[in-house]
Amino acid sequence: MKIRDILQAEKPVLSFEVFPPKATTPAPESIVRAVEAIAALKPPFMSVTCGAGGTTVGFTNRIAAHIQNDLNVPSVAHLTCVGTKREDIRAQLEELRGLGIENIFALRGDMPAGMSPAALDFKHATDLVREIREAGDFCIGCAAYPEGHPESPSQKEDIRFLAEKVAAGCDFLTTQMFFDNNILYNFLYKVRDAGIRVPVIAGIMPVTNAKQIGRIVQLGGNMVPPRFLRIVDRFGDSPEAMKQAGIAFATEQIIDLLANGVNAVHVYSMNKPDVAATILHNLSEILK
Ligand code: FAD
Repeated sequence: MKIRDILQAEKPVLSFEVFPPKATTPAPESIVRAVEAIAALKPPFMSVTCGAGGTTVGFTNRIAAHIQNDLNVPSVAHLTCVGTKREDIRAQLEELRGLGIENIFALRGDMPAGMSPAALDFKHATDLVREIREAGDFCIGCAAYPEGHPESPSQKEDIRFLAEKVAAGCDFLTTQMFFDNNILYNFLYKVRDAGIRVPVIAGIMPVTNAKQIGRIVQLGGNMVPPRFLRIVDRFGDSPEAMKQAGIAFATEQIIDLLANGVNAVHVYSMNKPDVAATILHNLSEILK
């Protein structure tokens, strides 16, 4: 089933994300079990990330196929293009088609240090979106950054390129995580003002350990509100308390999003079925 059709529903959509093992290791049983436990919660769909530079692409595709074909949950396979030759991308699209995957999340991926953009077959995610469109009837999702992509000189320019990405054939957007919903509401206003009409899925990360916050801020430059920093200060040294507080914070963010008309939320559940299950439990009446 295509994600663009799932997003037409009036009922709120709460989806989950999993990540594959590194390509150099066999798929550990623990990852397969985590994926299956999240699928057993019957979310409207699940997405499977891929490693930087497409390093886990084989596992990504097979896990996405397992979720969709064996566990009966619609899935999205992430695909990055930076540093990948056009013929390799075409081969991957062929593999995805052969596996019956209908939904692809098209990403540039992080630019490897020292790589010259001039030498690349794919410079931006937009180039990949065009390639996928030519390859057939896939439903295509792309990334959006409510706080601006770290490489962008301005949010205005970032949104201009986002509009190009959508015009190239992207069907839906999923946002980078954010910890203050006002950031998303302001972003949505600007996105709609730029003429972008596709559904925007809000990305929510339940932070369940204190170390994650440091990594998140370092990687994406996310603004973390003082309210959340105080939670980390108070509970960061107690893993169970931090997990409970992190899930409660994410739940509250989701309730506020739904109350303000954002009908689709993607939870960065990071192969943690207990976190996904607790959030679903917290929202059991709200999601009906
Ligand atoms: P693009 O859309 O190409 O944008 C990258 C930068 O280029 C932006 O600053 C943009 O403004 C600029 N730009 C775009 N078009 C042009 C143009 N024509 N001219 C000049 N500048 C332009 N990474 C992974 O490795 N694996 C994953 O599975 C993965 N999943 C993700 C899921 C989500 C929801 C998000 C938000 C990110 C994910 N990422 C993943 C991270 C992503 O790969 C990086 O953020 C990467 O640096 C940018 O990828 P993109 O597809 O957004 O790039």
